[in-house]
Amino acid sequence: MKKILVTGGAGFLGSHLCERLLNEGNEVICIDNFFTGSKKNVVHLLDNPYFELVRHDVTMPYFVELDQIYNLACPASPIHYQYNPIKTIKTSVMGAINMLGLAKRIGARILQASTSEIYGDPAVHPQKEDYWGNVNTWGPRSCYDEGKRSAETLFMDYHMQNNVDIKVIRIFNTYGPRMHPGDGRVVSNFIVQALKGEDITIYGNGQQTRSFQYVDDLIEGMIRMMNSRDGFTGPVNVGNPYEFTMLELAEKVIDLTGSKSKIVHLEIPKDDPTRRQPDISLAKKELDWEPKIQLEEGLRKTIEYFKSII
Ligand code: NAD
Ligand code: UDP
Repeated sequence: MKKILVTGGAGFLGSHLCERLLNEGNEVICIDNFFTGSKKNVVHLLDNPYFELVRHDVTMPYFVELDQIYNLACPASPIHYQYNPIKTIKTSVMGAINMLGLAKRIGARILQASTSEIYGDPAVHPQKEDYWGNVNTWGPRSCYDEGKRSAETLFMDYHMQNNVDIKVIRIFNTYGPRMHPGDGRVVSNFIVQALKGEDITIYGNGQQTRSFQYVDDLIEGMIRMMNSRDGFTGPVNVGNPYEFTMLELAEKVIDLTGSKSKIVHLEIPKDDPTRRQPDISLAKKELDWEPKIQLEEGLRKTIEYFKSII
């Protein structure tokens, strides 16, 4: 049994991670400030004596003894991370400093939930880990993208300077049950709109692409990375290379829900990346990992979830 800290553990991904770690017989401490996460996401875990839920903001130091830290605290949806951009970058940078300081003091292994956003609007396609990215320092997405880039730098610096045992994964767009219905990300938006018979809102012409992975695949990759061989720090891409346009996604959601919703086109947000596809050769080699759940199956499970809560 390991004692494991999950920051942002009451969020979409964090709640799945806490659940999986508890199921594997670990003791889990979840810290969260409930900005985008909710007690509801972890309420089913509260009866477990090996689960502890703590209201705490990662911009403040936190002291505890444990074996591993998963650092997930940070709003991930553009509408949420742009709501208070200064707080977003503080969460990434000060959160990383506080958690790395903790890892250093107690000798814990620490994993950072980085993101494909560090590639920005990529000039190289698909994206490999050695691509440095194409990111605007001044745009509406910068608080998130540059915060996550700085966090990666801090992780590598703590590793080189203080020998902290780090692991960095770059998560590509992930979807699944427990996404907030008002989250604003594309999969939840399209499914909720389709189920309610509202217009499906495509931003721009819908030709921009993404490569979405189902949450269970990500959690598997994340845990494999945390327990990967000594000395392998990453960064490593964890995503599903199946790439599709947002128009194709809208049509697929309409098809799977049998909805009568119409597609409408709204203005494209500034700096919206035009394409995104992970090269996952490194994850295959180092983690023996690749996604197992393809889009249609994952969407069906997610649609069932949203049907149950709407
Ligand atoms: P989410 O918004 O559902 O979860 C983030 C959690 O962090 C929430 O519970 C929120 O309340 C908490 N939080 C935010 N600021 C905090 C702070 N200052 N102190 C403590 N807790 C704080 O988002 P998610 O999709 O679950 O993403 C989790 C992590 O994975 C994030 O770091 C995100 O950047 C990263 N990520 C997610 C995706 C994705 O597609 N879901 C892709 C790439 C990276
Ligand atoms: N998008 C869209 N309609 C929506 C929400 C998002 O067309 O209702 C588009 C958005 O412009 C982007 C893509 O879907 O091109 C993915 O957006 P999301 O916010 O889910 O993730 P990110 O842009 O951070 O990859």
